[in-house]
Amino acid sequence: MLSNLKPQPADKILQLMQFYREDPRETKIDLGVGVYKDATGHTPIMRAIKAAEKQLWDEETTKSYTALSGDPAFGAAMKAMVLGDSVDHARVGAIATPGGTGAVRQALELAKLVDPETTVWTSNPTWPNHVSIIKFMKLNHAEYAYFDEASCTVDFDAMMDSLKALKAGDVVLLHGCCHNPTGANLTLEQYGLVADLIAEKGATALVDIAYQGFGDGLEEDAAATRLLASKLPELLVASSCSKNFGIYRERTGCLMAISETAEQTPVTQGTLNYLNRQNYSFPPDHGARLVSMILTDEALKADWMAELEEVRLGMLGLRQQLADELKRLTNSDRFDFIARHRGMFSRIGASPEEVLKMREDFGIYMVGDSRMNIAGLNAETVPLLAAAIAKTCK
Ligand code: PMP
Repeated sequence: MLSNLKPQPADKILQLMQFYREDPRETKIDLGVGVYKDATGHTPIMRAIKAAEKQLWDEETTKSYTALSGDPAFGAAMKAMVLGDSVDHARVGAIATPGGTGAVRQALELAKLVDPETTVWTSNPTWPNHVSIIKFMKLNHAEYAYFDEASCTVDFDAMMDSLKALKAGDVVLLHGCCHNPTGANLTLEQYGLVADLIAEKGATALVDIAYQGFGDGLEEDAAATRLLASKLPELLVASSCSKNFGIYRERTGCLMAISETAEQTPVTQGTLNYLNRQNYSFPPDHGARLVSMILTDEALKADWMAELEEVRLGMLGLRQQLADELKRLTNSDRFDFIARHRGMFSRIGASPEEVLKMREDFGIYMVGDSRMNIAGLNAETVPLLAAAIAKTCK
């Protein structure tokens, strides 16, 4: 059997990390993989996570199974964090999943269960794993226009134009905030217009929110998801705790499915539990438990929010520094968009050749589509990057 396997294509970002490790230059800069790093290049464990882990070590008396949905306290805490009071929580089914990826996968499993012929729409571009999972599941895939390469902003007219082709039953995957890979986001008003169009066409929105708290603030970053939840009869929301709680390897995510009525919720929740059962049975608990401990304890929550805010403001400061430096070097406002982008990433509109040249000439490692991880920078490396961009990009 195994001898029939064909090699899978190597992950481009992991390959890039390998090249980075092999580069002997001391001035090299890693702007590749999507993990938050502090000014020293370290991915820290957040203070509240450490405190919750200590508390858990003292208090936890069993490692027996929780529930198929995961601990209901986690679902409740995530509904509050992501949805706020935009909908009656009695309308929301929720399951813990292995990371945000697990939540996206389970959302697509749910859509496939209802209609295997459904078409899933993703932005062009999107997080490559979206497309990869959709194709792996043999679902139909379509793309809607999103990013304007010349201005590095959202081409909203083109986006709406492509979504006019939506059919009833289609699924539209939207990034809730901090679009990956571009960093360019819809305004709240634009999200509202997209919601209206989705409702008019009888399609279903799936929001992937993996960076809540990394853009404009914890509440602000949830505003679009909440708007969609309040406007649409039904909504799927895949939320990740990997970045905002810094618990990447704990695999902590949550899929929320909002039904039109509370009467529908038991069937929706039962279906979500069923999907967990089929795919991995009980979801991982450790990270989910830390998250619900933090979100339900005033002191832990305040400390977590303060640290998350430091992280967010740190990245915003780097964005501003880079945009200012590029303004100075190029004597133009061409790169001002870097300060307006939000989240961990910016796609800067460099060609693959320019990306390669920056790697060869300056040891700057960004993804081939010119996505850079802002958190890979610090105040000392920003001028080096700015100089490389100014020298290389036409
Ligand atoms: N969605 C998007 C858009 C992402 O960028 C990521 C993380 N790279 C995820 C989902 C899921 O991340 P994880 O499975 O690590 O929680």
